[in-house]
Amino acid sequence: EGITVDELSQKIGQTPANVIKVLFMLGTMVTINSSLNDEQVELICMEYGLECKKVVPVSEVNFEDLEVVDDPKDLVPRPPVITIMGHVDHGKTTLLDHIRKSRVAEGEFGGITQHIGAYQVSVKGKKITFLDTPGHEAFTAMRARGAMITDIVIIVVAADDGVMPQTREAVDHALAANVPIIVAINKIDKPGADPQRIMTEVSELGLMPEEWGGDVPYVNISAKKGIGIDELLETVTVVAELAELKANPKRMAYGSVIEGRLDKGRGPVATLLIQNGTLRSGNPIVVGATYGRVRQLVDDRGREIKSAGPATPVEITGLNDVPEAGDKFMVFETEREARHVGEERAQKKIEEERNSTSAMSLDDLFSQMKSGEVVDLNIIVKADVNGTAEAVKSSLEKIDVEGARVNVIRSTVGAISESDILLASASKAIIYGFNVRPDANVRRKADEEGVEIRLHQVIYKMVEEIEAAMKGMLAPEM
Ligand code: GDP
Repeated sequence: EGITVDELSQKIGQTPANVIKVLFMLGTMVTINSSLNDEQVELICMEYGLECKKVVPVSEVNFEDLEVVDDPKDLVPRPPVITIMGHVDHGKTTLLDHIRKSRVAEGEFGGITQHIGAYQVSVKGKKITFLDTPGHEAFTAMRARGAMITDIVIIVVAADDGVMPQTREAVDHALAANVPIIVAINKIDKPGADPQRIMTEVSELGLMPEEWGGDVPYVNISAKKGIGIDELLETVTVVAELAELKANPKRMAYGSVIEGRLDKGRGPVATLLIQNGTLRSGNPIVVGATYGRVRQLVDDRGREIKSAGPATPVEITGLNDVPEAGDKFMVFETEREARHVGEERAQKKIEEERNSTSAMSLDDLFSQMKSGEVVDLNIIVKADVNGTAEAVKSSLEKIDVEGARVNVIRSTVGAISESDILLASASKAIIYGFNVRPDANVRRKADEEGVEIRLHQVIYKMVEEIEAAMKGMLAPEM
């Protein structure tokens, strides 16, 4: 809705009568309460020699599609962000571990002891950021959520094995994402290794080697023995330089979530990759559908820091809830704005989830049962760690009771929150908590809304309980 004549006149310091008169002269009849369109506002501003600018309410800032305009003179080179992909057992984890271990000794203390989902190393004074979750699943999940954070993909192919199904998939995903690719032919230390044959095989996937006139660098390595790793890293820096990656450290930070988890002592913890700007401790921040103030800022060496620039992975605390991998984050000027935007986004998320489920009333349930229709049991899963949430979800989805269907409508890491209760209430779902429990406020809310919360520590017990309930549900005593 546009601004009214009354509001506009106050803003520009004119009487409403004057504003009405101006519009009348221009051929439009309005009253003091009429709302004006942008064009009319502009005409009035012109009449009084004012410059008018429409202010978009912060709650409408859709930072998923944020188009960033940085002054070119503020842009400086930033480190590249690398994802390692390839077939299972071809050595992705070994490579990530080797780089982490061998590089951090270089004059740094502590070492990268903790896994925060990403780490940064230095190669001849140039930084490189590695995402620590190898494989194309995570890469593609992020991309599907619009979080295109990878600048360069390293495809690992074992020299004693060659192109395998996941190698093809990885290449497809990397090509689809249009990111530069480097091929690392691994395990060249093995007796049966035949790098030349591998090069031929991989080139057939559309990755023409540089030495054959193409534009894809191939490097022979042994992740286990540490052979060729320096060359691989130098190749990364060369490819990164060609890509001319830049960012503006002067702006407020935004970026993506790499990992979210609930820490027993510290509460919600998120690993963020800063894509642009500088993140500082104390910054008001919105992350996905949650918000807060950056309390602790910790780097990949576990050191507490005050600020971090573009392409740096950091772990933060101070959020209200646990965000999901691929969520976007953005810093706001004030905590009020952050809270406002965060709450709007949480509300929107609930609505979206609500719309994506088919809520069912008890009456519907009865008639469905009578008519022999399939009964839906909606479930929300909250767990303390990602692995558990996924395991619970997949066990539940396997439950097979005739005439009933289990829908896991939300499965996330974190304490049971009010937003879970709202969703459960809206979609007649039961909440299952795994090693997490609701606090007193949330319990009260659940009582108010008539939402059932069940707490478990063992997956099969939960499955048994649901199966029993479903059978009971499906065979009412008449
Ligand atoms: P991922 O599934 O791609 O992460 O593969 P891993 O890193 O777990 O490696 C699978 C197996 O290959 C492990 O037993 C590694 O020790 C072994 N491996 C990895 N790189 C090399 C290498 O360069 N040479 C040899 N001989 N073995 C390797």
